[in-house]
Amino acid sequence: MELTRCSRCGAFYANTGYVCSKCSDQDNFELSTFKKYVEENGVELKSLSEISTYTGISEKNLNRFLDYDGLEGYKKFLKEL
Ligand SMILES: [Zn+2]
Repeated sequence: MELTRCSRCGAFYANTGYVCSKCSDQDNFELSTFKKYVEENGVELKSLSEISTYTGISEKNLNRFLDYDGLEGYKKFLKEL
């Protein structure tokens, strides 16, 4: 059985997904907050730290979200502005 380390809490877990089952609700919630923010405000000329300030999501987690399926498009706007 292959174990993955949860990128939110550091615990090892065996299920698939980006984070462990304990963290997945919070992760999904922050992901949808991030998506909603981008849909409403656009990503041009915004840095991750600015988005972090507005959404309350840590830059570390925002960085992870950029690697999630479906968010590739955000990446080119949000890198190191
Ligand atoms: Zn976790």
